[in-house]
Amino acid sequence: MTQFFADLIGGDQNPNLPLEAEARWRLVETAWELGVSPALLAVSHDPATESLFVVDADRRRKSITGARDALSGYQKGHCFYCFDNFSLTGAAQPDVDHFFPHCLKAAGLGGSIDGVWNLVLACRRCNRGVAGESSLIPSIRLLARLSTRNEFLIASSHPLRDTLMAQTGAGEVERREFLNAFYMEARAALVHYWEPVEVAEALF
Ligand SMILES: [Zn+2]
Repeated sequence: MTQFFADLIGGDQNPNLPLEAEARWRLVETAWELGVSPALLAVSHDPATESLFVVDADRRRKSITGARDALSGYQKGHCFYCFDNFSLTGAAQPDVDHFFPHCLKAAGLGGSIDGVWNLVLACRRCNRGVAGESSLIPSIRLLARLSTRNEFLIASSHPLRDTLMAQTGAGEVERREFLNAFYMEARAALVHYWEPVEVAEALF
């Protein structure tokens, strides 16, 4: 937990930080309320409300925090694809984007597509625009970026760590194989790739 609190009070001037810290706090607090270790929280994402939730012992859904806030820390206010700036408090909030698009559900690949492992924050141009990702698969170099993001959250003591491991694999090799296998299946189903137009230098 030391790293968690160090991150929480870190001197980063990023204006999105209070929301991200609040999201982390909600994850830990929910675990306490349910009487489990934060490491044992099985967090799911509800695309309709763009929020993260857990299911308690009575099988009731318990909303935890906005997915946007929970995911923002790693990206530090930049679009996952083009690195453009966004604010969590302004009018042009980023979209919670499925890296592997939601339409893969129709191709039978939907099993874990709403998992946190597959969610990133994207500017509207990348997610919705005419040159946006829409229902295409990001290129392989972007898959490496997603893998780096997931590995970073797992290596740090982020409250979503164990959820990511439960969804993609306990070991790093297993997780890489999971992503590669998903990519191959998605490519077979959708064929075409998508590349963003980057507007700033690569940040992650
Ligand atoms: Zn973008």
